Amino acid sequence: MTTSAIRARLYDGRTSGALDATLAIAASGHFASLTIHTAGTDTSVPFTAVHVGERVGETHRILQLPDGGSLEVIDDAAFDAALEAAGLRTAEAPIRRLESRWRYALVAVVTTLLGSAGFLKFGVPALAARAVRFVPPSVDSFIATDTLRVLDRTTFHPTTLTTARQAQLRGIFTGIAAGVSGSDTHFRLEFRDGGSIGANALALPSGIVVLTDELEQLAKNDDELRGVLAHEVGHLVNRHAMRMLVQASATTLLIVGVFGDVSGVSSLAAVAPTVLVTAAYSRDFEREADAFAARWMGQHQVDPRRLAALLERLAERQGGDQGGFLASHPGLQERLQALGGNP
Ligand SMILES: [Zn+2]
Repeated sequence: MTTSAIRARLYDGRTSGALDATLAIAASGHFASLTIHTAGTDTSVPFTAVHVGERVGETHRILQLPDGGSLEVIDDAAFDAALEAAGLRTAEAPIRRLESRWRYALVAVVTTLLGSAGFLKFGVPALAARAVRFVPPSVDSFIATDTLRVLDRTTFHPTTLTTARQAQLRGIFTGIAAGVSGSDTHFRLEFRDGGSIGANALALPSGIVVLTDELEQLAKNDDELRGVLAHEVGHLVNRHAMRMLVQASATTLLIVGVFGDVSGVSSLAAVAPTVLVTAAYSRDFEREADAFAARWMGQHQVDPRRLAALLERLAERQGGDQGGFLASHPGLQERLQALGGNP
């Protein structure tokens, strides 16, 4: 059978201009041929010798001819119909069939969105946990130093704790860290007046823990502070800060990838201070840090309820305030129960 004429432009590869042409596809049995008709000449080539270019979106299909020339198909729909009538398939035919039906397109969009949401919720944390293993310690320490510098400029004030008190607390901290590090990790305790974040403790990447004067003053005894410091060491041991940063930026990257919104891209170091101070650690991270603290306290004859007592006092003081220790330490009731404190 032969199909009706299909308009095309012929580029013969020898002259620069294009020639108007019409095409016809003829098929008999397993043999198909393409006939090109231009002013004055008819050429026929076996269809198997023609490379049929993909038709993507609204572009015209390009056919490469065995003699080095090429054809730009103008009547794409007619050409596709002729291919189908001749029983010929091209590699992307099923894709076009999908593209042409909006229902499939809608399903694809919804699937992509659901997939992205699922990926953000489950995939990103899992990937982040893996990814941090490949983040070299030098990056951690760069980010931590940078973060502390930014916080010193924007939030913190110099500590008013005496050097003797600082030495005392560093002694406690070093004792906790000694049990776990032994590696090349260098844990360090810093003291600051908390400024706008008040009574708080932060674990920065690379092993820096910041304890604010306000939290030191809120504690009724050093056992409570042992609990807090052990909790923060628990965050450090599990590299929670870095995992949260990688998660935050992975989410950003995915949003950029899916929605093409590049306005949210910023460097890891630039977002670190905000993420580390205002973003909530996941309950899983808190549970891990608490479990670490409870274990350490148990091994060192310190009642885990001391930590619960301090957390509770902190909650009372902060009341319904947004931000601060409660925002970064969610799920308080559950945690108090786990530590054996009052539910
Ligand atoms: Zn925590």
